[in-house]
Amino acid sequence: MPDPDGGAVAVQPVILAVDDEPAVLRAIAGDLRRHYARRYRVVRAESGEEALEVVAELRDLGARLALVVSDQRMPGMGGVDFLAEVRRLEPEVKTVLLTAYADTDVAIEAINRVRLDYYILKPWDPPEEELFPVLDDLLDDWEAGVGGPVAGLQVVGYRWSPEAHELREFLSRNLVPFRWLDVDGSPDEAARLLGGGDLHLPVVVTEAGQRIERATPATVAPAIGLRTGTGQTRAWDLLILGAGPAGLAAAVYGASEGLRTGLVEQEAPGGQAGQSSRIENYLGFPAGLSGADLTRRAVAQARRLGAEFITPASAVRLERCDPYRVLHLAGGERLTASAVVLATGVSYRRLNVPGMDELAGRGIYYGAARAEAPDCRGEDVVIVGGANSAGQAAVFLAGFARRVIMLVRGDDMAATMSRYLVDQIASTPNIEIWTRSQVAAVEGNGRLERVFVRRGDEPEPVQLGVVSMFIFIGAEPRTDWLDGAVDRDPRGFVLTGGAVPGRVRGPGRPERDRYLLETSVPGVFAVGDVRASSVKRVASAVGEGAIAVQFVHQYLSL
Ligand SMILES: Cc1cc2nc3c(=O)[nH]c(=O)nc-3n(C[C@H](O)[C@H](O)[C@H](O)COP(=O)(O)OP(=O)(O)OC[C@H]3O[C@@H](n4cnc5c(N)ncnc54)[C@H](O)[C@@H]3O)c2cc1C
Repeated sequence: MPDPDGGAVAVQPVILAVDDEPAVLRAIAGDLRRHYARRYRVVRAESGEEALEVVAELRDLGARLALVVSDQRMPGMGGVDFLAEVRRLEPEVKTVLLTAYADTDVAIEAINRVRLDYYILKPWDPPEEELFPVLDDLLDDWEAGVGGPVAGLQVVGYRWSPEAHELREFLSRNLVPFRWLDVDGSPDEAARLLGGGDLHLPVVVTEAGQRIERATPATVAPAIGLRTGTGQTRAWDLLILGAGPAGLAAAVYGASEGLRTGLVEQEAPGGQAGQSSRIENYLGFPAGLSGADLTRRAVAQARRLGAEFITPASAVRLERCDPYRVLHLAGGERLTASAVVLATGVSYRRLNVPGMDELAGRGIYYGAARAEAPDCRGEDVVIVGGANSAGQAAVFLAGFARRVIMLVRGDDMAATMSRYLVDQIASTPNIEIWTRSQVAAVEGNGRLERVFVRRGDEPEPVQLGVVSMFIFIGAEPRTDWLDGAVDRDPRGFVLTGGAVPGRVRGPGRPERDRYLLETSVPGVFAVGDVRASSVKRVASAVGEGAIAVQFVHQYLSL
């Protein structure tokens, strides 16, 4: 190992610094050590070729590579080519390019080509402003992701169990680090963790050694510090339903503007955006950011400003008891608020072909590739869908799987997918696109084993021997629980503002026009994807969440 410090490489995760100029390499490695030595081991290499040897050596030692900071202009292998190779070997690693101002175009191009996370201009003085804030963010993101350090929580179960899948998805989307142990893959270690007992899987073993058998999100939530109810009857100024981008934005603005704000979420904060492997079009993040990263930042921000999270908790009824609005939760608890923001978004549409119902969660997944991706290493996987969410998942999974087959119903994806994703897919050699193709049936004994695909006019379906299939075929609002309470359009989207006929008349309040984002119930607002005619984007959901709080203030001051 070409590193002066020697020692136990395998223990700490690694930051690798690469530069051919000895003085620059000394300077960057010195800054990195000064700031990160307590949590990371900093390793150096003087060329791309040497750095790749280091990466291979680290893998042999079982050390985890968290971050690579590389110079661009080096003799032999250039920085971008080196980072492309590292990304191929270690899909989860964070990458930063050190460039001169003249090479900015190369760096921007690398964002698309090698999914570069950031570029930093030389010199990076002072590092407290120009270097560490960026790297801190990237390392936090890495730690929160699948490559992060293993916390005390361990999950033991079967890879093909829908209950284990639901639990892993729940932990991963709530950004809780955990170690996953497949009973079939590591039977001895699983038996040791289960303490020899005949426990019902999945089992969660907490840091304190408590074993939770038949674990579900609801039973595990208290052990990881989540609140599933309030246990109190005090009224809230503002209750927000759904902690996707729209709900999180409303929570940030509500709490920061002095409203006692509660956020009710049935699964995990982040919503659909939380499932995005890379959001490329959110303003201010030139290299894009993962949905998990956006969620982590937004949750921390909302909490810091005083918003209270109630999760996992599902709203099942909305009641108008003037002047209050009462939310009934699935467990029977009632929450009372002066104003409510509905930000419940949309959920994936189900694929209706023979065999689906028995195999959902057993190799067939709606959205959600994050928790399952590491298990797909070296395997073939199928993705169903031709829009942006399917494209993002394909690029993400291509970092793990041997081959990714995208099944697209139309003749091409140009009409349904953004150009940058079409380009990324075209330049990823292990993604295949099968156009005019649809799933005809799925089969398997206890888990997915075969997918039958109908291609164009071919008379017989093609059989694919795959064990994982991810479905992204559009989404619809799940608003049945609002029946009779709030006006919706025929597809279930909530009507707001001018789309609701008539003026607002309420007991003890002056007659008025309906506010822009207000529903048919005064004081109840709808924002983001659940709102009829909304633009289905992260930025617009965030914008609507922020705007709604202005109307909440106006409503409360009437
Ligand atoms: C894989 C993927 C990739 C995407 N990529 C991009 C992108 O790159 N750029 C972009 O601009 N947009 C992208 N989108 C779209 C974007 O994520 C959505 O437009 C955005 O998340 C909508 O935000 P929202 O808060 O309105 O709803 P959602 O994100 O759908 O969040 C709604 C939340 O409400 C919760 N909820 C629902 N019902 C209840 C209930 N009864 N009680 C309690 N909680 C409830 C849900 O669990 C969920 O967490 C992507 C979407 C997907 C699925």
